[in-house]
Amino acid sequence: MVLDPGPIPRPFTLKYFPFKAVEGRGARVLDAEGREFIDFVSGAAVYNVGINREEVVNAVVDQARRLLNYTSLYFYMEEPVRLARKLVEVTPGRFDKRVVYGFTGSDAAEIALTSSMNYTGKPWLLSFTGSFHGTLYLSLSASGIFAGRGRGAAVYRRVLYAEYPNPYRNKWGVDGYEKPGELTALALSEVEEKIREAKGDVAAVIFEPVEGDAGVVVPPAGFLKGLREVADRHGVVLIGDEVQTGIGRTGSMWAVEHFSVEPDLLLAGKALGGGMPISAVIGRAEILESQPLLGLGFTNMGHAVCARAALATIEVVEKEHLAERARVLGEHASKRLREIAERVEAVGDVRGLGLMIGVEVVRDKASRRPDRATALKTCWRAWEKGLLVTTLGSHGNVLRIMPPLTISMEELDKGIDVLEESLRDAVE
Ligand code: PMP
Repeated sequence: MVLDPGPIPRPFTLKYFPFKAVEGRGARVLDAEGREFIDFVSGAAVYNVGINREEVVNAVVDQARRLLNYTSLYFYMEEPVRLARKLVEVTPGRFDKRVVYGFTGSDAAEIALTSSMNYTGKPWLLSFTGSFHGTLYLSLSASGIFAGRGRGAAVYRRVLYAEYPNPYRNKWGVDGYEKPGELTALALSEVEEKIREAKGDVAAVIFEPVEGDAGVVVPPAGFLKGLREVADRHGVVLIGDEVQTGIGRTGSMWAVEHFSVEPDLLLAGKALGGGMPISAVIGRAEILESQPLLGLGFTNMGHAVCARAALATIEVVEKEHLAERARVLGEHASKRLREIAERVEAVGDVRGLGLMIGVEVVRDKASRRPDRATALKTCWRAWEKGLLVTTLGSHGNVLRIMPPLTISMEELDKGIDVLEESLRDAVE
């Protein structure tokens, strides 16, 4: 069965199973034939408050009827200002902040990186292996996951990548679960080394507090605190990319809170709009004020309908304590998945924070050799059995468990049962 992608170009049509979403609610999504699926994907970490959450839809409809948008580039609108106040309040750091809007994670990263370069007057950027920050010019260039792969000619070259401290597999061969301190020290010394390599001309270091597309990689406890210290020592802007980890996903509103780190600029996207396209850079006033006049101007930035959707989303997360729910459900899911790992040889590692969980599929536990084919087969089998789950990871072998934070315990357990069956079928 192949669905017709119409005039959409090939790079965007490589899918692993022919699922076409037509309707959804909560943690359930329906395909064109009316088959219902349990959602472990949240539309790529978008539906933290559930698919088509009523409060979000109502806010969208209400604002759409009133006034879709009237550019706040030349005039003022109340909705983006209200959202900006809220974002200032709910993000870490009690310093003077500003908020700049985009539409998607990539442009948020673009805004943060250009702002840092304008602010510092420096040309180099520092990022990490496996990182994903977007697909625009600087955001793609700064994404370590694309480095060394065909990514076209339009790449900014003054980017350095330090090794992200992946406890399960890293270039030093250090077991980061056994020796987190050693892994942290090695990773931080590499960051220092890269800054020296750029002769101190580094504008920003951009990091994900948990690397998402790299395969849900949680760094050892002390790493981000150490990174904050290194950035301070060298006058480098610290950019925390919470596009995937934010809005309660990891068991706190922002993942950096687990590590007690305050980035200078924080990026929000994906789940921020509850299904509507909006992103934001929230951070130090002096950095975000450093752009040339209209240097950050998009016609529809802070779009009123999207801003209302984001306000409704944050209100639901707060009212229903969804971050806490993510923590509790995440612990339950991780525990069950670890039990599965004991029974199934192909599960090499289970890790995550809150309801952001990665299950690493390998040839066998001893070799830790990534097994992308089995991971893909598992997703296909799960889809046949009514569960939506996808892969990610630098080796494409990590199952991504990121259901809506509103998922019921029954749905979560049912999804995990299906996942285990699918894994067993895939390895047979
Ligand atoms: N940053 C992170 C951490 C992401 O996970 C993503 C998307 N996977 C992006 C940025 C880019 O976001 P978008 O696809 O909305 O442009």
